[in-house]
Amino acid sequence: MRAEDEMSYERDNIRNMQGYSWGEQPSQQRVIKLNTNENPYPASESVATALAQFSVDQLRRYPQPFADPFRDVAAAVHGVKRENIIATNGGDELLRLAITTFVGAGETLGMAEPSYSLYPVLAAVQGCNVVKIDLQDDWSLPADFAGQLNAAGAKLAFVVSPHAPTGQLVPVQHLRTIAQQFDGVLVIDEAYVDFVDPDLGYNAVPLIHELDNVLLLRTLSKGYSLAGLRFAYGIGAASLLAPMLYKTRDSYNTDAISQSLATAALAARDEAAVSWQRVREERGRLTAGLTGLGFDVLPSQSNFVLAAVPGNGEHRAPRLYQGLKDDGILVRYFDQPRLRDKLRITVGTPDENDALLCSLRKAMQLND
Ligand SMILES: *Cc1c(COP(=O)(O)O)cnc(C)c1O
Repeated sequence: MRAEDEMSYERDNIRNMQGYSWGEQPSQQRVIKLNTNENPYPASESVATALAQFSVDQLRRYPQPFADPFRDVAAAVHGVKRENIIATNGGDELLRLAITTFVGAGETLGMAEPSYSLYPVLAAVQGCNVVKIDLQDDWSLPADFAGQLNAAGAKLAFVVSPHAPTGQLVPVQHLRTIAQQFDGVLVIDEAYVDFVDPDLGYNAVPLIHELDNVLLLRTLSKGYSLAGLRFAYGIGAASLLAPMLYKTRDSYNTDAISQSLATAALAARDEAAVSWQRVREERGRLTAGLTGLGFDVLPSQSNFVLAAVPGNGEHRAPRLYQGLKDDGILVRYFDQPRLRDKLRITVGTPDENDALLCSLRKAMQLND
């Protein structure tokens, strides 16, 4: 076909869908970036060492197809077996694999609303339907979440814990009940789990031994300061992971460099944990600072907070977002129901959080 005839070769569902909308990734280094929930502290020394020691000759051959050295470290960290771990090219690949493997075109998947905006995009690519189940007024999952999923015939459902964008933790007992009652695969997206206060004793990993339909998502992007590496993993029953490991995955889905660095990162978990504690401390300070400015801040177990703007929030929130941006500070604004009066702010270093609070105070006076 000649180009000027403008034939579209896309499948209908691809032509009709909207792509993902990324948080801004400025090329300028000077920007204070509190918009995409990256860890403000560097990855551990062990990762830097692994990178320095990696030789280009190691790239001559294909990588280990299953990232087995990584799986063994992850299995030891979580007290599970190698067959309970699948390594993926970022958490986003695991999400895509789960949909490809468990939800057919024309079938349905479920998600709580609001949550991660990539889920509907991946569903649209697969050509499956999405049933969105609203969170309750306090942002918790409705008690009959599983019942609603089953009624919709959902083959798979996504739950985020701690939840994005509210930062609220879903109790393990509630996750267990949902998985017990749900007829499909329950993906528990734990992208932010490393930032949960350890005193709460939250641990959903044991669910994979009780229930064969639970898939936990873990990523090195946030907790391990490696968003640029693209490495994540799933934890689940061996029978649940097997079709993704042996059938639907790309033959070499994670590359040799990322396998080496990810293995070093997980083995040095204690080093990363120092940054998690710092983030928790700053989360408390940032929450107090925002509350002092009149914001209504949800208590967060994550590395971001969702802050409701005081006064006419829907009017002011986008202006504050822009005011911060003019000052070189990026935060996230979601133009969608229940979020239009709020800003989602990643917890930064103490200096970054101070700069944010200072700029916000100024922007609020200008916008009064
Ligand atoms: C960041 C994130 C992921 C995964 O991100 P990757 O960088 O692809 O590992 C998954 N779910 C949520 C809710 C996230 O915020």
